[in-house]
Amino acid sequence: MADISLTFPDGNSRSFPAGVTAAEVATDISTSLAKKAISATVNGAHWDLAWPIEADAQIAIHTMKDNDQALELIRHDLAHIMARAVQEIWPDTKVTIGPVRDNGWFYDFDRAEPFTPEDLGRIEDRMKQIINARDAVRTEVWTREKVRTHYEATGEPYKVELLDRIPGDEPIRMYWHGPWMDLCRGPHLQHTGQVPSDAFKLMSVAAAYWLGDNTRPMLQRIYGVAFKNRDDLKAYMTFLEEAEKRDHRRLGREMDLFHMQEEAPGQVFWHPNGWTIYTTLQDYMRRKQRADGYVEVNTPQVVDRKLWEASGHWDKYQDHMFIVEVDEEHAREKAINALKPMNCPCHVQVFNQGLKSYRDLPLRMAEFGSCARYEPSGALHGIMRVRGFTQDDAHIFCTEDQIEAECAKFITFLAGVYKDLGFEAFEIAFATRPEKRVGSDESWDYVEDALENAIKKTGHAYRLEEGDGAFYGPKLDFYLTDAIGRVWQCGTFQVDPNLPERLGASYIAADGAKHRPFMLHRACLGSFERFIGILIENSEGKLPFWLAPRQVVVASIVSDADDYVHEVVETLRKAGVRAEADIRNEKINFKVREHSVGKVPVILAIGRKEVEDRTVTLRRLGEKHTQVLPVDQVVSDLKAEAVPPDLR
Ligand SMILES: [Zn+2]
Ligand SMILES: [Zn+2]
Repeated sequence: MADISLTFPDGNSRSFPAGVTAAEVATDISTSLAKKAISATVNGAHWDLAWPIEADAQIAIHTMKDNDQALELIRHDLAHIMARAVQEIWPDTKVTIGPVRDNGWFYDFDRAEPFTPEDLGRIEDRMKQIINARDAVRTEVWTREKVRTHYEATGEPYKVELLDRIPGDEPIRMYWHGPWMDLCRGPHLQHTGQVPSDAFKLMSVAAAYWLGDNTRPMLQRIYGVAFKNRDDLKAYMTFLEEAEKRDHRRLGREMDLFHMQEEAPGQVFWHPNGWTIYTTLQDYMRRKQRADGYVEVNTPQVVDRKLWEASGHWDKYQDHMFIVEVDEEHAREKAINALKPMNCPCHVQVFNQGLKSYRDLPLRMAEFGSCARYEPSGALHGIMRVRGFTQDDAHIFCTEDQIEAECAKFITFLAGVYKDLGFEAFEIAFATRPEKRVGSDESWDYVEDALENAIKKTGHAYRLEEGDGAFYGPKLDFYLTDAIGRVWQCGTFQVDPNLPERLGASYIAADGAKHRPFMLHRACLGSFERFIGILIENSEGKLPFWLAPRQVVVASIVSDADDYVHEVVETLRKAGVRAEADIRNEKINFKVREHSVGKVPVILAIGRKEVEDRTVTLRRLGEKHTQVLPVDQVVSDLKAEAVPPDLR
């Protein structure tokens, strides 16, 4: 047999007979590695230890220490083990597909009876038995005909259909987990006992159409999650609980912030409380931007397709645009417009009015721009993923040699905003030139250097995302990490020489000639809707005092206190604090509980004693103890606390 040469991660090569399996290679290296090995990577492909290697290749042997491979195998083996368990308990069930997803896997079954939560427990128990049995996993390559005959005989029509979808040149593999077998691409572990029996959990059952096609049979999808050990599973379950507690859709209801309804999918009906957060945040951003040298504009919502054609959006972005047809007066033809999905082309129209000179640059043009984008209904998520939203958008028109300074200025601006909003740390991803691009290498070199220098000047760390830039320029994306470790992309900074070119923007340079400006697209929050969702989830609804929609509730303990309650509310309002009275004939504990659910940061309770002494009993959200304080002191303290961070 001919020899092949295998090259290891350390660069060493050794020769083996062609057809050697990855398991044999591991054994050849050492018996301890052979024991620990779970799979290999051969020329970039995840490789089963049992598969033969026929030609020269790069090879790496994996153990459970290699997280990515280990988790993929554990989750994939669990999908098979679950399908086996289901068919052992309910032999009439037909199996379909079971891919690895997110933190686990799912498997779709065709079964007349719906799976119940009790069934999931039963399946889990059977899965543990299969794991504890340490059944061997083995694989064979079968001919297409043999597979077809087998699945026709066993009455598995979905598997026959899957078989027909495998391209002609791919080997068709069968995998056994003990006596149970499945058509599968692999790779897998070597026996079921390698799967940790205490680090997985079946989560839920959902309906799913076969192949996602709503004309095909409705199947039942069971979702599971799995990790390498029990602690990881526990940490994940705790994370889910935390995320659930913070879900902005639930808090939005409890705090009476907003609602959404069928007639306007993906669009927010802001209630007074939610709108207070929104406008407070917008006022803050407006002041910050003014202080940083931005001018604010406002541009139309409904814009003729001609502009979208000129900007290139009509071609590239149409699937995400709301198209509006209008019968123009006296016109025989319908005018085709689109709701703006972004503000950039409109800002160039503002720039193009009147002659611009180099003295006008950099021109920082901001708009709280309301945009509409069509998102598939399945992608919508509360106010985080919507169809109608408002960006804190701005475009900086500038010369090439102003890019670096503008970029540094923006990073400093953004860092200040994030800090004020409770996010001390953020990450920068620097996306550089993609393979398919326009513009000379020299200009890419220049602009990429400018961004890199700007980041370095501001002293922030960054990670490189090579090749991920837009086809016309590099960009920076800014990521926040929230209180439970979730990462959100919010800010962006993108260099664009292309749109000014397409839409004919120019300025007169010092040499008296016309030049093209660069356009820097940048946003800090991203959209108000999504960012408010993040703020709510990050703080569990306990927003900082200046952002809290209802800052103070003044609650009476006895009805004799009503007049004084109103007086305190008035005084607070005059001091710029959002205060309201609660003089309902309810027990004070009831009022405290209710306003705590509504996340009101301060409750001032007033009874006869407080009226007499001109004091209030102050209770802060989440704290058990109360303080009796003179009313003047409380008003002046809360007044100071209500001042937005940029005005302190
Ligand atoms: Zn499989
Ligand atoms: Zn833009």
